[in-house]
Amino acid sequence: MAKKGRVLIVDDEKINCIVLISLLEDYSTIIALNGEQAIQRALSDQPPDLILLDVNMPGLDGYEVCRLLKQNEKTKNIAIIFITVKATEAEEAKGLNLGAVDYISKPFSPAIVLARVANHMELKRQRDLLEHLHITDALTGIANRRRFDLSLAHEWKRVVRMKGCISLIMIDIDFFKQFNDNYGHAAGDECLKEVAVALDKACEREIDLLARYGGEEFVAVLPGTDIEGAMTVAQTMKESILALEIPHKGTSIGSCLSISLGVSSSSNTGIDTPKVLLKQADDALYRAKRNGRNQFSD
Ligand code: GH3
Ligand code: MG
Ligand code: MG
Repeated sequence: MAKKGRVLIVDDEKINCIVLISLLEDYSTIIALNGEQAIQRALSDQPPDLILLDVNMPGLDGYEVCRLLKQNEKTKNIAIIFITVKATEAEEAKGLNLGAVDYISKPFSPAIVLARVANHMELKRQRDLLEHLHITDALTGIANRRRFDLSLAHEWKRVVRMKGCISLIMIDIDFFKQFNDNYGHAAGDECLKEVAVALDKACEREIDLLARYGGEEFVAVLPGTDIEGAMTVAQTMKESILALEIPHKGTSIGSCLSISLGVSSSSNTGIDTPKVLLKQADDALYRAKRNGRNQFSD
């Protein structure tokens, strides 16, 4: 049976970990024997959904671990339940005020631990889903405008800090209004999905992000890619949309669906904010349109 979620058990006494592991057999469990290890596991590529966190530990104590995890963007959404012998009202309040979702005192009732873990796991699942929906385009499943804005702001800060570069590609389907008029809105929607898949494939690097900017416009954020690299990606995108061979009759430029693209890069002169970077990509797209479409411009 598939495991119900991932739980990190943090306790300096191994025997406590072993008891909890067997109790939580329906979950995928990992353990940490001190606070430092707990932080490391939480930051790993396979972070837990929920942490059962002891308070009294040598080195970093549970409160400190909770504080650090809640401060970090990458770990702040992990549900934390304190499980501890320290159970005065003041201590429980302290744990909850640090952002823990629950507080269980030892010796614990196995049934209550299981029930609380199950409840918080479900809340975490719903919260993750909500967050995912908030930043995802419902039609194509790629990032939406909101995620694009966040990503660009975030990556721009990194560029400034590391003195690196970042490029943008604005992409717009050619004569898409005509496509809808000819084939219907439902066919238009299917077409947008196909285009999103093909464009996404062209963004090869893990850190590249393709988003639906709105309507039949897409945008790619390419951190660490210079203008030449971005032009190569734009060329690939242009070709992969033509290669889909989606029939598009009644346009002045051919018989298949095509796109126009505008490329900008932070290494261009005068680019000092993400807003200007976006404006340049938009202006470049406009030039590509004006020059006849089915092409890219910088
Ligand atoms: P151009 O080559 O200059 O870009 O012309 P165009 O027709 O593509 O551009 P225009 O901005 O005039 O029209 C965009 C069309 O995209 C209008 C709208 O019907 C269509 N569109 C926008 N969003 C969606 C969508 O979610 N689904 C469908 N099916 N069509 C959409
Ligand atoms: Mg448009
Ligand atoms: Mg268009």
